[in-house]
Amino acid sequence: MYDIGIIGGGTAGMTAAVYGQRAGKRTVIIEGMNYGGQITVSPKVENYPGIASVSGAEFSMNLLDQAMNLGAETELEQVKGIRQEDGIKIIETGGKEYPCRTVIIATGVTHRHLGLEKEEKLLGAGVSYCATCDGAFFKGKDVAVIGGGNTALQDADFLSNYCNKVYLVHRRDEFRGEAGLVEPLKKKENVEFVLSAVVKDIVGENVVEGLILNNKKTDEDFQLSVSGVFVAIGQVPKNEVFADAVKLDDFGFVLAGEDCLTSAPGIFAAGDCRTKEVRQLTTAAADGAVAALAACSYISVQE
Ligand code: NAP
Repeated sequence: MYDIGIIGGGTAGMTAAVYGQRAGKRTVIIEGMNYGGQITVSPKVENYPGIASVSGAEFSMNLLDQAMNLGAETELEQVKGIRQEDGIKIIETGGKEYPCRTVIIATGVTHRHLGLEKEEKLLGAGVSYCATCDGAFFKGKDVAVIGGGNTALQDADFLSNYCNKVYLVHRRDEFRGEAGLVEPLKKKENVEFVLSAVVKDIVGENVVEGLILNNKKTDEDFQLSVSGVFVAIGQVPKNEVFADAVKLDDFGFVLAGEDCLTSAPGIFAAGDCRTKEVRQLTTAAADGAVAALAACSYISVQE
């Protein structure tokens, strides 16, 4: 029996393990693919308090080492669901079951991808899904942001402070994001809207050199010369398997507030997988701590 079963080995999950172990709880992190989560693909992290610069991979490995050195157990398995029996939460994977007193769901999100072959090939070589993480590396360069939601608008604004030129490429001629974010962008001299345009391909073999776009109104292809492409076309949570255990919102995020409490007592949600405004490395770590301490309190009340 585990005190805390943590589903997801990203920043939120591993931080929860650190806090759980330090509180004397037996914790297990069940991760489906790779420990570290989204941040592992960031070449440099320069916005984590107290660490001036570190690669995402190194940050994740340090955090995993920290959790394991404290005694956290790890399992590489795909979780299929959570069921409850007599107050015990049982995490089900393909072949095994993990009985736990509490569970923390920390499955993160996946950035929606454009679905282009070069997008995967040039990830980290000009293609990025995180302007806040990677924007500073494109200082003085020309970049494109793809998307028309709040994230794309905010990314374009953020990047305009570093970059020579920011093209905001959106597939329609109206933004999905808030007008209050659009108006200030219109006034920025180095931001250009490229509307009713879809990305057909990314140019460059080893690094991004440009984009081939299609104007949807004229059906003409044209090229933009950029060295960075920030894809901000929405995020996809991975919580379908938890739909029977906890309430999800319309987009599939686990309904939980800053206290990380879900609709099911003893099951907590931490990091990007839950309903929240700011999805950053620091907020994932903060959630991990909050969820683990909430799990500890839940256990002491039950004892
Ligand atoms: P979003 O609101 O879902 O917007 C995604 C954008 O990407 C849309 O403009 C969509 O175009 C476009 N898109 C989707 N699939 C595409 C594809 N295959 N090719 C090209 N474009 C594509 O996602 P988000 O901006 O990440 O925001 C997610 C949620 O967080 C939203 O509820 C947002 O309001 C919220 N958020 C809030 C704030 C804030 O309040 N400050 C900041 C960031 C995010 P269409 O419009 O044509 O569908």
